[in-house]
Amino acid sequence: MEDILKSYEPVIGLEIHVQLNTASKAYSSDATSYGEEPNSKVSPITLGHPGTLPMLNEGVLESAVKLGVACNCQIREVNEFARKNYFYADLPKGYQITQDKTPICNGGFVEIKDANGADKKINLTRIHMEEDSGKSSHDIDPFNTLIDLNRAGTPLLEIVSEPEFKDGTEAYNYLSEMRKLVRYLDISDGNMEEGSLRCDVNISVKPKGQKEFGTKVEVKNLNSFRNVQKSIDFEIKRQVELIESGGTVTQQTRTFDAGSGKTQVLRAKEDAHDYRYFNEPDLQPVIVKEDYIASVKRNLPALPKELFAKYRKLKLSEYDANLLTESKELASYYEEIIEHTQNYKGAANWIMGSIKSYLNERAASIAEFPLQAKTIAELQILVDAGKVSNSAATGELFKALLEDPEASPSELAQKLNLIQESNEDELMAFVKQALSKYPDKVEAYRNGKKGVQGLFMGEVMKLSKGKADPKVASKLVTQELEK
Ligand code: ADP
Ligand code: MG
Repeated sequence: MEDILKSYEPVIGLEIHVQLNTASKAYSSDATSYGEEPNSKVSPITLGHPGTLPMLNEGVLESAVKLGVACNCQIREVNEFARKNYFYADLPKGYQITQDKTPICNGGFVEIKDANGADKKINLTRIHMEEDSGKSSHDIDPFNTLIDLNRAGTPLLEIVSEPEFKDGTEAYNYLSEMRKLVRYLDISDGNMEEGSLRCDVNISVKPKGQKEFGTKVEVKNLNSFRNVQKSIDFEIKRQVELIESGGTVTQQTRTFDAGSGKTQVLRAKEDAHDYRYFNEPDLQPVIVKEDYIASVKRNLPALPKELFAKYRKLKLSEYDANLLTESKELASYYEEIIEHTQNYKGAANWIMGSIKSYLNERAASIAEFPLQAKTIAELQILVDAGKVSNSAATGELFKALLEDPEASPSELAQKLNLIQESNEDELMAFVKQALSKYPDKVEAYRNGKKGVQGLFMGEVMKLSKGKADPKVASKLVTQELEK
């Protein structure tokens, strides 16, 4: 099977819907707040009653331009809205206001890692603005389908990729990248579980080398990145096996069943739906001027890619740079530490070591971490100055600070008796004392038994009551023995 799979090329394209985090809906002032009393955020505009007029929420435009700029898209100047007509119970107007022939963004790309960890560019076809439908619930009332129209009219951006993914891993990495991006841009919370990020997957296979694409199957209702990945890997195998056994792939919409890990037919695709698109007569075209795009660009926050490059320049490893840019909040925390210390690696170690374990133990995010970034910088400065050992700083002192987050690290270190002796004159007295205690061992060292160094270090530690800075002490011991 592996060999047969290798003689086919999978072709995969993703359509993502991102729910925007604007306070009000796309074309009305209804609130978009989540978890409200059903059907309480539904004005006549949302319902499309005769005589009402939609008006574009400027926040939607700004979000679209932000994402477009971040993905290197071309931003369209004259943006028309269109009505996409179809009947659905939770679509109260009988049509969706979307964009058809004039999507706000064309082209552009996102950089991801492929399954081997190599860089790959995924080109985008388009990004357009549209609105969400309401929500039907089939499992609350045993006899009726219930409809909540609060979500109707909530703004969405639809992001359509070119068919350029080769496997489930690439799709997974693309989704992670996209979620990171919308969160950094602060245009959506990007939670797939809550439906703020939804993904439809289009999959086909073709014999290697063949130019024309095979017939595609669309998989819907995917509620996690893992399931997107699994559904793709399953679907590739299913299609290849089908073709190999003499069958043909037909155009279908399928659904993924997480329990069995398989896709199942939802419906065979009838002839392409006729949505009777036409220009939305109630909305003026939106004109996006160059200077507007320029101002959005200027105000864009630092993006993960840029921060990654910056951290690599600070000599952090690829692994470290990746981890620190995982979320905007984590990166901001790191940025704040390094405002106070130039030990970039040391600062990164705090986050990836002590802080991450604290957060993991509590399943908490960095926003809930009790210590200020400046306090972490002060800890690092104490270590770098040789005043506190690294193990005392990450151990006893860190723990004590968590109990008393407002305390000053250096005062607390003093109170806990953790300040090390790094004054060379004072340490030298201990070193001399240690050497004079074991003249025969000094002799042995000078005859080549370098291992006795440890004995002297132990003695210095004892004499200093454990407070000697080991680095300085070790230097002085060697210096004296080499005399
Ligand atoms: P539709 O009209 O069915 O919505 P589109 O051309 O709009 O199809 O493409 C929808 C998505 O499917 C895009 O992400 C695109 O890259 C992808 N796609 C198009 N053709 C194929 C194919 N043959 N195999 C896999 N994906 C495809
Ligand atoms: Mg389409």
